[in-house]
This record gives sequence, structure tokens and C-alpha cells, in this order.
Amino acid sequence: MPEVRRLAIGFAIVKQQPHIDESVKSVDNNNNNETNLSLKITKTLNTKRTKIMLNAFSVDVEDYYQVGAFARMISPDDWDSWESRVVANTRKLLDILDSVSVTGTFFVLGWIAERFPALVPEIAERGHEIASHGFRHQLVYEMTETEFRDDIRRTRLLLQEQSGQSVIGYRAPSFSIVKRTLWAHRILVEEGYRYDSSVFPIHHDLHGNADAPLEIHDIATESGIIREFPPAVVRRLGQNLPTGGGGYFRFFPYFVTARWLRSVNASGRPFVFYIHPWEIDPEQPRINGAPLKSRFRHYLNLHRTEPRLKRLFHDFSFGTIQNVLKLE
Ligand SMILES: [Zn+2]
Repeated sequence: MPEVRRLAIGFAIVKQQPHIDESVKSVDNNNNNETNLSLKITKTLNTKRTKIMLNAFSVDVEDYYQVGAFARMISPDDWDSWESRVVANTRKLLDILDSVSVTGTFFVLGWIAERFPALVPEIAERGHEIASHGFRHQLVYEMTETEFRDDIRRTRLLLQEQSGQSVIGYRAPSFSIVKRTLWAHRILVEEGYRYDSSVFPIHHDLHGNADAPLEIHDIATESGIIREFPPAVVRRLGQNLPTGGGGYFRFFPYFVTARWLRSVNASGRPFVFYIHPWEIDPEQPRINGAPLKSRFRHYLNLHRTEPRLKRLFHDFSFGTIQNVLKLE
């Protein structure tokens, strides 16, 4: 078993990455009424507490027909026969990020980078971090150690060549580093990765390790240390509830997500939020015959993602994972 060392780095980030809140300025400029001032200060302090901590924004760059929920129905050998929408949807996300001056980490599928070789250079050119999502979206627990090594090596080399960046981050397809595949961290270290964001500390039918730490922590393997940035969960009634993005962002009303994410920050933990390009595309072709649960998870509230994202960017501060982990 790897030794887990927990780091309380959240408050250090608060000191090093002060966020200038526009509402602070408004108090200084409008102080002619004492009651108003007091209300404004209270409001400012509440907003400031939320926005002061730098969180990570991340995108898993894959197309709607490549997701784990449809993997039993659509083989990677058939991916070329589907209408691709990933480039347009990723550009739409890039435009949204530009409009709010946010940079993020893009975990790109190697297959996408190979088919659309202009995409990774564009994401990198627009100021974002490139990281690896594996090559063909194979689940880690369905690969041998040798297959996993080949997959992450091939993807990293391709992404580095296309982006000109040193690629040091990995996110497993469908968060598939689970208790029985903890060997993956050692192989990631051996292949040049310095952080991972794949171990979801929840109970789930397809992934997760509910016993894993909630906060950023270092994992010592036989080959060296790798830093783990787990997707966000909030503790409620003795349970870890996922609140880090994706289907959970579409399922829960925005005010619930915002409240839970604020409580993550209030406990001293930055969070990593994740989204997929297809989640801002309500018009995507429907995949018939998928199980009801898969369809529910994939298609629920797609039209709500974009407006909710804009609220999220207003309410929280974001940067790349490397910014938050201080690994540059
Ligand atoms: Zn994925």
C-alpha cells in the first residue's frame, strides 16, 4: 500500500494568490450611508471568503460518443463513423473561458489529439495547461500494467509534441483508478507524470474509493512521489457527496452546488471542477438503445450547463491545476 501524506496547502494558497474582489472597491466608493455600508461590508466579506481561494478548472476533452456511459455500445473501432463535435464544443468552452479571463487544465484524449492535430496547439496557445486523459478512454482497471504504461506514454509524448508544454498531469477515464489499481500511481511516476486527478473519494457503481483522502495529498510509490488532487466531495451526514462537476453539476440545482463548493473552500480545501465539451451541447445526436441510467446521466440538463458555468465563474476563482498545486 502506498504511504499517504496529507498536505494542508489550502491556506497557503490563500496567502499567495490574493483575489481582488470588485465588491471591496465598491465599499470604498459608496460610504455615505452607514447602514448601506454595514450591509455592503457583510456582503463583501461573504463574497471575499468564497472568492479568495484559488480553485482548479478542468476539462476532459472527449466527444459525446466516447464517454464511459456508452462504452459498452460504441467500440473505439467505430468512433470514426460518428459525427464529431468536440472541436466546436471545445472552442465554445475556450471562448467562455476567455470571456471571464479564466485558465484551466485540459485533459485531452490522445485519440482526439491525433484526429484533430490543430486542437491541442490552439488550447495551449490560448493559455491553458495540457494534460493527459489516456489514448482510447480505456478504464484503468480493464488494462494490464503494461497496457496502461503504453497508453499513458503514447498520449503524453503526442500531447507534448503538439503543445510544446511539459505534460505532467493525468486523469483516468471515468476516474478509474480504484483500490485494486493503485499500482497506476507508480507507473505514472515512472512515465514522467507529477500529479494525478483520478481518485474520486465516493461510493459509485463504476469508480471511486470512498476511503481515499478528500484533500490534495502526496502518494509515495516505490518509484517516487506523485500528488493526488481528488475531485471535490462534501461531507454530509457521514457520507462523501460528489460536487466536483460533470453530471453532478447538471443534476443538483446551482445554489446547492455553490453552497457545497463554498463549504469545501471554507474547510481549507481548494477544489478541482471538471466538465466535458459535450456537456455544453444540448443539440448533440442522441445515442439510441443506451441503458436508461446511462441516458439519464448523459443527457440530463445539458441546456443548463452553460448558464450555470457563468454563475460558477462569477462566484469562485479558478486557475489551472498546476497553478493550484504550485508545480510549475
Ligand atoms: Zn473521459
